[in-house]
Amino acid sequence: MTTYQAVLDDRQLEELRESVHGDIVQPGDPGYDTARRAYNAMHDRHPALVLQAADASDVLAGVNLARQRGLPLAVRGGGHAVAGYATCDDGLVLDLGRMRGVRVDPERRTARAEGGCTWADLNHATHAFGLATTGGIVSTTGVAGLTLGGGMGYLSRRCGLACDNLVSADVVTADGRLLMCDEDRNPDLFWAVRGGGGNFGVVTSFEFRLHPVGDVLAGPTFYPLDGDVARRYRELIPEAPEELGALLGVVLGPPAPFLPERWHGRPVMVVLTCWSGPGEEDGQVRARLAALGPVIGQHVARMPYPVINTLFDDEMPTGLYHYWKGYFSRELTDGAIDVHLAYGAALPSLQSDTLIFPIDGACHRVGPGETAFAYRDAAFSTGIGPSFTDPADIAANVGWCRAYDAALRPHSQEGGYVNFLDADDQDRVRANYRQNYERLVAVKRRYDPGNLFRLNQNIAP
Ligand code: FAD
Repeated sequence: MTTYQAVLDDRQLEELRESVHGDIVQPGDPGYDTARRAYNAMHDRHPALVLQAADASDVLAGVNLARQRGLPLAVRGGGHAVAGYATCDDGLVLDLGRMRGVRVDPERRTARAEGGCTWADLNHATHAFGLATTGGIVSTTGVAGLTLGGGMGYLSRRCGLACDNLVSADVVTADGRLLMCDEDRNPDLFWAVRGGGGNFGVVTSFEFRLHPVGDVLAGPTFYPLDGDVARRYRELIPEAPEELGALLGVVLGPPAPFLPERWHGRPVMVVLTCWSGPGEEDGQVRARLAALGPVIGQHVARMPYPVINTLFDDEMPTGLYHYWKGYFSRELTDGAIDVHLAYGAALPSLQSDTLIFPIDGACHRVGPGETAFAYRDAAFSTGIGPSFTDPADIAANVGWCRAYDAALRPHSQEGGYVNFLDADDQDRVRANYRQNYERLVAVKRRYDPGNLFRLNQNIAP
């Protein structure tokens, strides 16, 4: 393993330390193991250096250092990339985890979030004004990676993808410039960062459009593992109001007080609801859930919007092993449902799941070429993934996931959501971007011809 000293002598290191506001952590430093640690334990890497940036000028310093020294560069926002892109061996980890400021403008209904924010940070800040924007369903996930790949959550049907709500972004490009981009300034870059992942630079700040969202009727409803539940769900989605966010999942019954003990650890179906419409219609939402099948457990209540996004936080801590796959589909076919039943029956662990996100409604009102995110005809985005605690289980879990993947592909569209794909899915990147791929390559050539930002679902220049 090379060390940082191999590329920078003591004097250069000292100069760097003096020039940044954040911290520099190297092998041998007391905080190194914590600083290098990836969310997904599958990726146990040893960077030569971790730069914990405090501001945009630190990000500039990190990008310049990596380019000038030819170091592999891993950019870390929330660190949740299951593919392990937020870490690397022998290179520089540029960690934005300290850049978590949020500024809300309640009059314009916008919020500016720094590049290291989690969804907990943004949801908390905007909720104070009765506002929110589409974000992920686990609050510890980063705003950056999720938004740059597209971003789907409970509010997608009503408010569009996270990237659809982006108003502007500040981007540090490979040549060490800080560019503001929006519809008028650097519009090609603004187009590319809305779905194109971390390929084009380091986003130090995101400006989002917000929507009135206060308290919501939300939580899980459990059903037996039964194809009819999925068939009724697929009929519900297109006719339900767009304020109904409802994900269909196949999970092992959690050992929770709202689920009878006989279902604990057994494969079940779950609908994760978030109704952001008027409270007077709560009764109708409850009736819709009851009509999906025999309810075996439920924990649905009125709660502040940020709370529903913390439901799985404890279940998904840093340090689990993950291996995921992703799919788009225009419909949830009988064939796909059969596959989910077959593999759902053999779910390997309590943290593993299949989750189907509806991405119709507002997501479909954006054209396929308007942003880099191309799958505007897909009604569903599915993620499958074993998540587990014991490395001895890697082969069994990866094997289960790959067999599931092979069975589900014929029932899906060609591409898969980049944020659900794993590191061995680089060959699916082109399909993910469809007709937008060549334009993305052109933007990549313009802003990162040397492919400095390559630790991602890579669009090669
Ligand atoms: P990171 O690992 O920090 O980054 C991911 C990628 O983005 C890397 O390539 C990285 O280099 C790049 N990147 C990070 N920060 C920046 C930046 N500031 N500028 C430029 N590039 C950057 N997805 C959904 O759409 N909806 C969900 O509800 C959802 N739930 C999830 C729950 C869990 C528990 C996990 C693990 C993932 C979930 N995802 C979800 C997938 C998620 O969108 C991706 O894992 C995403 O990459 C996470 O972003 P991050 O900033 O946390 O990750």
